[in-house]
Amino acid sequence: MRRRAVWLSILLRTLAGLLILTTPAMVTGACGSVAPESGFPAPTSGSTMAASPSTVSTAAVTSAASAMSTIPAAAPISTTGTMEPVALPPEPGAPVTITVLYDNTALRSGTRADWGFSCLVTGLERTILFDTGKDGDILLFNMEALGVGPEDVDVVVLSHEHSDHTGGLDRIVVQNDRITVYYPASSSAASISRAQAAGAALVPVDAPTSIGEGVLVTSPLGAPAESALVVHTPEGPVLITGCAHPGIVEMVRAASDLVSARVFAVLGGFHLVSCSGDQVGRIIEGLKELGVERCGPAHCTGEAATAQIKAAFGEGFIEMGVGTVIVF
Ligand SMILES: [Zn+2]
Ligand SMILES: [Zn+2]
Repeated sequence: MRRRAVWLSILLRTLAGLLILTTPAMVTGACGSVAPESGFPAPTSGSTMAASPSTVSTAAVTSAASAMSTIPAAAPISTTGTMEPVALPPEPGAPVTITVLYDNTALRSGTRADWGFSCLVTGLERTILFDTGKDGDILLFNMEALGVGPEDVDVVVLSHEHSDHTGGLDRIVVQNDRITVYYPASSSAASISRAQAAGAALVPVDAPTSIGEGVLVTSPLGAPAESALVVHTPEGPVLITGCAHPGIVEMVRAASDLVSARVFAVLGGFHLVSCSGDQVGRIIEGLKELGVERCGPAHCTGEAATAQIKAAFGEGFIEMGVGTVIVF
């Protein structure tokens, strides 16, 4: 009960912080663009790429396990009526694995690249599919190539309503109607209502929401409303973003406030395609000031911004693409 009390007090503080973050100036996107990505160019590779599997070890990075021990348990904070039991973060030594299933780039032979994003989080109480890419056929193709299937998924978390993140949901639900789908409450993607019709349980998210042991969906920010996933790992909290339309620095800051710890690593779409080099530089500074050690830009980050992030983070850079496997 003490843990619950501590967590709730932190939550109240966090919600106050999030209110500040929802001021218009903070939700216009890192470089002023939150438009759907349909107008962006197609991925450079629509077919397979020959490369060895890119398994990223985090062993060389300073462990944040000591910080983890001070993070209170996730409490039942969903306002949707779905009450989860109080759960502890994973103990250090229980690795969490993140596998990229859908991305603009394919890094593993036998997989396909396409505009969109999806990754699988395993090693926790429940297996989480974060976003579903744009095309269900490509998602299933890549899942099979990487040795997983829809039946392995317990929970789908949709970051935001854009079709390059929600388009693959139908194909997952058709093969597994036992899943629970978490999505920003204001989302209007048709695939969400179709998932419900197919039998999936829906949980609209309008506040930080625990989805199991050591995993939280952040409060949706901006327009379109966008959440991210915070995963407690033995090395520290890891933030996974879909497009980061509200701004990647703002999302890292909100997540850090939410768990009262620095975000150790951030992965996913950063939406920096329209940013100048100077703007990307300031974003990199912002991430470093927040204590981010490892950075895995994907999807809509853009080639130039990704190169800049790679140079700035050095050993902490994680090359993202279909087939990337990161073990924290
Ligand atoms: Zn988007
Ligand atoms: Zn996107």
